[in-house]
Amino acid sequence: MSRNAESTAFRSALEVIRAVEPRVADAIGAELTDQRESLKLIASENYASPATLLAMGNWFSDKYAEGTVGRRFYAGCQNVDTVEALAAEHARELFGAAHAYVQPHSGIDANLVAFWAVLADRVESPALKKAQVRQVNDLTEADWFALRRELGNQRMLGMSLDAGGHLTHGFRPNISGKMFDQRSYGTDPATGLIDYDRVAEAAREFEPLILVGGYSAYPRKVNFRILREIADSVGATFMVDMAHFAGLVAGKVFTGDFDPVPHAHIVTTTTHKSLRGPRGGMVLCQPELADQVDRGCPMVLGGPLPHVMAAKAVALAEARRPDFADYAQRIVDNAQALADGLLRRGATLVTGGTDNHLVLIDVSGYGLTGRQAEQALLDSGIVTNRNSVPQDPNGAWYTSGIRIGTPALTTRGLGTAEMDQTAELIHTVLTQTTAGANADGTPSKAKYTLDADLADKVSRQAADLLAPHPLYPAVDLT
Ligand SMILES: *Cc1c(COP(=O)(O)O)cnc(C)c1O
Repeated sequence: MSRNAESTAFRSALEVIRAVEPRVADAIGAELTDQRESLKLIASENYASPATLLAMGNWFSDKYAEGTVGRRFYAGCQNVDTVEALAAEHARELFGAAHAYVQPHSGIDANLVAFWAVLADRVESPALKKAQVRQVNDLTEADWFALRRELGNQRMLGMSLDAGGHLTHGFRPNISGKMFDQRSYGTDPATGLIDYDRVAEAAREFEPLILVGGYSAYPRKVNFRILREIADSVGATFMVDMAHFAGLVAGKVFTGDFDPVPHAHIVTTTTHKSLRGPRGGMVLCQPELADQVDRGCPMVLGGPLPHVMAAKAVALAEARRPDFADYAQRIVDNAQALADGLLRRGATLVTGGTDNHLVLIDVSGYGLTGRQAEQALLDSGIVTNRNSVPQDPNGAWYTSGIRIGTPALTTRGLGTAEMDQTAELIHTVLTQTTAGANADGTPSKAKYTLDADLADKVSRQAADLLAPHPLYPAVDLT
């Protein structure tokens, strides 16, 4: 593949867009510049390949394709069938899954598909039988009423938010918190690690329908074999949301007990985080759940996005290549180098380190809230996000943590030496930032002071770290 072709493709695309609405073309160009210039440590973000990006910008976007491969409610879906089947095949092969459903538009949607599939599969109700054989629209009010009553046990046990769980695992701001009666398992206050005995105890007391594994901000491996045993011991369905670490599973960094796919009944994921694909979601499951999962559209999803499924097929094909395993290993090596660099300089890390792609700094040791630290780092050219730490005294808005992750910088080609320098920059900013006060003299959780010259200096150092590793090096829009 010539680099020239990539550059020509994007330049031509922008030229075509510019002829219609130049401000959109400008914004797309500006986004590339901004991404190139920022030291991106957002743990959930990455940079998809040019091939993945280009697979999305075309006439597949014009197709309606409700239904599944070979069984559509619209005519003329033969090419959509080709890409959807390819994406699903790559996903099954890559993860060793019995079934893959590649239509979900995002991680949240994938979870919704999974929750409904589990509910529908687990409950034998006349109302539900009816829902399965007929259009949902045919259900009467009374049917729906009966359905809700029949569903009975709608208890979900998942990881608590402040221990790193996700909103979609039964918390109030998400519909899952309304569909399910939720209880959480946290982490051991002393070690910050999941205490599997406590999870087992909670499962015995609560008897959940679904036990959820997976997280957005837990910096350690999870033993999915043990969680499956716990689920089995109480008759729960075991679901894993691997949205954050799918790339580490794909790249065979997480194997055996730490690979969710052989252990879970159903696995959901995003495709755009460590997996490095297009923005989207996916469900993998055991054969018993496949029929229900495939009803995701129109049960909870809008029509599939064929252009994104095409891009999923491309990205999953990339993830099956040997260099992806190398990439996944470098993500973890980099996270560990970052953690070591921070620890050596005196930072406090939740769980004392990492064995995945992310590091959670407890910034209370620097006398800051997560919000102050996030802004001070941003002033210094370092993009992170604030995040709760376990038992966070500052709540979910201000927080006491900064979450940093390495998938994006690893894609750019930064290595462990640069991670140590990144740790130095982060530590410098956090030690030089001081918490501010409100007008009445009380401590502010948002205000802070950081010398502007220092912020500038760190920004330049961050730019120097990035300079040898250009983002989308083949793409020249000038
Ligand atoms: C990011 C994430 C999601 C949501 O993904 P979207 O694509 O933003 O909908 C769901 N679950 C977990 C664990 C996540 O980290």
